[in-house]
Amino acid sequence: MDTRLGVLTSGGDAPGMNAAVRAVVRAGLDRGADVYAIYDGYHGLIEGESHIRKMGWNDVGGILHRGGTIIGTARSEEFRTLEGRRRAVRNLLRHGIDRLVVIGGDGSLTGANLLRQEWADHLQALVASGEIPQEIAARHPFLAIAGLVGSIDNDMHGTDMTIGADSALHRITAAVDAIASTAASHQRTFVVEVMGRRCGYLALMSGIATGAEWVLIPENPPDMDNWEERMCQVLREGMRMGRRDNIVIVAEGAQDRHGNPITSEYVRRVLEERLGEEVRVTVLGHVQRGGPPSAFDRILSTLTGVAAVETVLEATAESEAYLIGIHENKIVRQPLMECVAKTHAINAAMAAQDFETAMAMRGRTFQESFRIMRTLVRAMPHPPTPGQRRIRFAILHAGGPAPGMNAAVRAAVRLSVDRGHLPVGVQRGFRGLIQGHLEEMGWMSVNGWAPVGGAELGTSRKVPGGSDLYAIARNLEEHQIDALMIIGGWAGYQAALRLYQERENYPAFNIPIVCIPATINNNLPGSELSIGADTALNSIVEVVDKIKQSAVASNRCFVVEVMGRYCGYLALMSALATGAERVYLHEEGIRLADLEADIAQLIRGFQHGKRLGLMIRNENANPLYTTSFLAALFEEEGGDLFDVRIAVLGHLQQGGSPTPFDRTLAARLAARGVEFLEESFATHHAEAPAVCLGLQHGAMQVTPLEQIPRLMDERYQRPREQWWMSLRPIASMLAKPDPYFQPE
Ligand code: ATP
Repeated sequence: MDTRLGVLTSGGDAPGMNAAVRAVVRAGLDRGADVYAIYDGYHGLIEGESHIRKMGWNDVGGILHRGGTIIGTARSEEFRTLEGRRRAVRNLLRHGIDRLVVIGGDGSLTGANLLRQEWADHLQALVASGEIPQEIAARHPFLAIAGLVGSIDNDMHGTDMTIGADSALHRITAAVDAIASTAASHQRTFVVEVMGRRCGYLALMSGIATGAEWVLIPENPPDMDNWEERMCQVLREGMRMGRRDNIVIVAEGAQDRHGNPITSEYVRRVLEERLGEEVRVTVLGHVQRGGPPSAFDRILSTLTGVAAVETVLEATAESEAYLIGIHENKIVRQPLMECVAKTHAINAAMAAQDFETAMAMRGRTFQESFRIMRTLVRAMPHPPTPGQRRIRFAILHAGGPAPGMNAAVRAAVRLSVDRGHLPVGVQRGFRGLIQGHLEEMGWMSVNGWAPVGGAELGTSRKVPGGSDLYAIARNLEEHQIDALMIIGGWAGYQAALRLYQERENYPAFNIPIVCIPATINNNLPGSELSIGADTALNSIVEVVDKIKQSAVASNRCFVVEVMGRYCGYLALMSALATGAERVYLHEEGIRLADLEADIAQLIRGFQHGKRLGLMIRNENANPLYTTSFLAALFEEEGGDLFDVRIAVLGHLQQGGSPTPFDRTLAARLAARGVEFLEESFATHHAEAPAVCLGLQHGAMQVTPLEQIPRLMDERYQRPREQWWMSLRPIASMLAKPDPYFQPE
C-alpha cells in the first residue's frame, strides 16, 4: 500500500520554513512516499481542492534562500471548530494522507494534536454520513503527527531554537548596528522595540550582540521599583564616560514586577523627561520576520524536516504526536503535548508574576545569557572589593582573524573588570608577547567593539619557539602577568601547549592558561563550534545565493572553493544550506571514480532540463584534484551541454561583522574564561591548570591542554572526531537529482 504524507505551514511565517518544506518533500520521496503540500495551513486543509497538491522533487528546488513560506500560511478560525476539523479529515482521506508534518507555533501544533486525537471519531462520523466509504476509513486507522516549531520568537519548550529565531536576530542586529551608528553621530538615545510578546529571547540576545545599554524582557522585569531612575543613571554615566550612542532594547511584551506593561513609548517618555534630551523610538515590526533565512535556520529546518519524515513514517497507532527540535546540538523528538504544556506553564508563571519559575524554565543558556547581559549593560564596573585577589591576566589572539574576536575581548575585559580584575591586552598575538607590546585595558577601551569584525588587538599566526620562549617568560614576569587568555585558532592552541610543555624550563609559564576557540575553520579540539565559524558560513551562503542567481540565463555549473584548511565543516554546512549537489571534503578524499560518477550525474541532469550545477570544494580537499582541475574536467566532459565557472571565495570568509550567534557565543565563552581564571586562583595548585574551553552538548566544557594530542589529528589540524560528519548522508540525499525523473 502506498504511503502518503502531507506538510503544511501554519500561524505566523518564519524564515527557514521553506527549507523545512523542501526537506520533508525530498526525504518523503526518497523513502518512497507520496508527499502532498497543503497550501495556506489549516485553511487550505479545510478548503481542499487545489489547496492540496502532490509535490515532485523539483517543486521544492531553488527555495532554500527564500524567506516566508512558498506553500503559504494562514490562521483559521474554522479549524478551531469540530465541523472545520471534520472537513479537514475528509480532505486528508480523499487524498489518502494519514501522516502529517505541521510547521508552526504552539497553537498550530495543539491543533494538529487535536486532529490526531479526534481522528477515530471523525472517521466514524464521516462513514456514518456516507462521506467516505468504510474501506477508506479502515485503511487509515490513525493519523501520525510530527511538529516543527516555526516561530521567530524562540518561545517554545522542547527545542533550544525555533525555526526563524536566528534569522530574526540577524535582522535585529543589523538594524540596531545601523541605528547605533546614526545615534553615535548625533549623541542620541534610541529605544528599539523588538518582537517577543511572551519571550525575551530576541531582546536579550540582540542586547548582548549589539552592546545595548539597557534591555527589558518579560521574564525578568527590573527587580527594583525605581528601575526608571537606575536606567537613566546608567545612560547618564555611560555618556559621561564617553559613550556617544545609547540604545535601550524593549521586548514587545516587557513588563514590570507587578505585571504592568512597559511599552517602548513609556521608556521614551521617561528618558526624555529625565535625561532632558530628544529620544527616538524605532519599532522594528515585520522586518524581523522577513528576509532570507540564516544558514543556521536553513540547516535546522533541513535536519528537523528529515527527522519529522522518519517520525511519521515509523509511527504506529500507539505513537504520540512528536515535536522535533534541537537540544544540545542534537536533533531530538519529544512528546508534543508535553512541550506545549510546558510552554503554557512558562506563560502562566509570567502572568502570575512568578518570574523565578519563568526564568528557570527558560533553561540554562537563557539564564547564563541574562547574567552576562546584566553585567555588560552596566555603565561602570563595580569597584574591587578591598583585599580581593585581583587577577592580572593577558588577553591575546592567535591564528587568522575570526569575526567575533572583538566581542570576546570586550566581554572578557568588562566581565573581569567588573569583578575587580586587571586585563592586559597584547598587540598582535604572540609576536606582541615576545616584543613586550602589552597594555592594561579598562571598561571603556572596548567600547563599541561588539559589532566590529577583524581583531582590534591584532593577531598573528606566530607559534613561539627557541629564544621566543625566553622573551615571553621575561615579559610575563616584567608585566606581572598572573594568567593567559588566548582567543584564537590552532596556532594559539599549539602555542599554549608549547608554553605548558616548557614549564620545567620556564617557571614563568606555570600560570593558568585558558584557550577560547576562535577560528572560521571550526577545527579545534574541545568545542563543537568556534567563534567566527557561523559568520563565515553565512558569508559563504550569501555569496553562493548570489552566484546561483547569476546563472539564470545559461546552463552553468559552478565549482565554489571555500576555506577551512583541512576541516570540511564550512564546505559541508554551506552545501547543506545552499543545496549544493556535491561537496568535496579532505576527510573523504576525492577518487577518480567519484569524479566520473559526478560528471555522469551532471550530464544526466543538464540533459534533463537542469540549468544550474553547484559543487562546493574545501580548499584542501585533494592536492592534485584542485578546484581548477575539477572545473577543467567538468568543462571538457560537459561539452556543449553546460559551461563551468570557478568561484574561489577567499578572504571575504574571514571578514565582516560577526553574526549574532558569534557575538553571543563570544560573550558566553569569555564569561566562562573569566570564571575559570577565578576558579584557578581559588584553589592552590602546584601546577597551574591549562585548558581549552568549548561548547559541547550545549554546555560550556573545560578540556585540559594535555589531552590535545589525543583529541587532535595534528597532521591535518582537525579533531579526530567531528560531530558534523554524520550529516553527510542527509546533504547528499537532499541534493541528488530527481530520482523519479522519466525522460520523455
Ligand atoms: P505563532 O507563534 O505565529 O502565533 P501559532 O501556531 O501559535 O503561531 P496560532 O494563531 O495560535 O499561531 O495558531 C494557528 C492556527 O492553528 C489557528 O488559526 C487555528 O487554526 C489553529 N489552532 C490554534 N490553536 C488551536 C486549538 N487550540 N485547537 C485547534 N486549532 C488551533
